[in-house]
Amino acid sequence: MTDYIMESIKPPLEEYINDVAWWMGSTQGIFTVKSAWELMKHKQERREDYQLIWTREVPFKMIFFLWRLWKRRIATDDNLKSMKIQIVSRCWCCSEIEEETVTHVFLTTPIANRLWRQFSNFAGMQMESMHLQQLIINWWKHSYNAKLEVVMRAMPTIIMWTLWKRRNNLKHGGTTTYNEMVMQVQKEVRKLIKLQHPWIHIKKETWPQIITRLKEYRPKIHHHYVQWKKPGRNKVKCNTDGQQEEIQFIFQDVVLMDDEQDVIEMENLNDSSFNKLRKPGNIRQSHSHTRKNEKELPYNPSHVGVDSA
Ligand SMILES: [Zn+2]
Repeated sequence: MTDYIMESIKPPLEEYINDVAWWMGSTQGIFTVKSAWELMKHKQERREDYQLIWTREVPFKMIFFLWRLWKRRIATDDNLKSMKIQIVSRCWCCSEIEEETVTHVFLTTPIANRLWRQFSNFAGMQMESMHLQQLIINWWKHSYNAKLEVVMRAMPTIIMWTLWKRRNNLKHGGTTTYNEMVMQVQKEVRKLIKLQHPWIHIKKETWPQIITRLKEYRPKIHHHYVQWKKPGRNKVKCNTDGQQEEIQFIFQDVVLMDDEQDVIEMENLNDSSFNKLRKPGNIRQSHSHTRKNEKELPYNPSHVGVDSA
């Protein structure tokens, strides 16, 4: 720092000259918004572990908790001590006379260790001689398939949150059993799957069943063969293409063809202009074997209200 000041700022050598403010963000010492922005941009360079913490799949309160823990901002005794807060430490998580540390609460307490093992074993995760951060990062980086990956990435957050809830509960006179914690974690995982993949039916599955389901999941693809059929004589057929949005069907493209398979009209339109076409009597649902997005209507050029001309 002294070298920097002597070389870059070059303080005046004469005495009795008033001190001046010097902005460290630029070489001339003058504040500019541009230099402040450059500084901030540099500081915001994201660390990979923070990116992994901030997933959208788990509730915000859990992510926020893990982020605080990562930055050592949760009120465990070791963190409080590092902030020079004097306390007599005691662990609330087990019967051992131990100092309360992050590692103890979240990993080495027998019940915490058992919880991690319960979920690690079935997921094929190693946890021997790992410290807490290594273990969490290992879960984040586990990859099998996309569906399982989302769950695996959320697991450390859910497990840590559950352990923290138990610790706080014990500290305030309550109790949380091991089985209750297992159930809580499984419940959170099922919630996550329901939100992320609503088509995978998950009801009361336990962790091993969830793993198997996600590993073996193959989407069912429904398809059926469609063939375009000519409209009757003096009728035109209107084929549409679009998308279903809630209860409304938004038409994008409309193609009108006559019985000779000549295209009479091809339009890209919105639903309001299609409504002109849907005046009673204008369109009659065609007979069987027609596609859902297909309508047959009498051919009368004056009815074809989609004319853009
Ligand atoms: Zn303990």
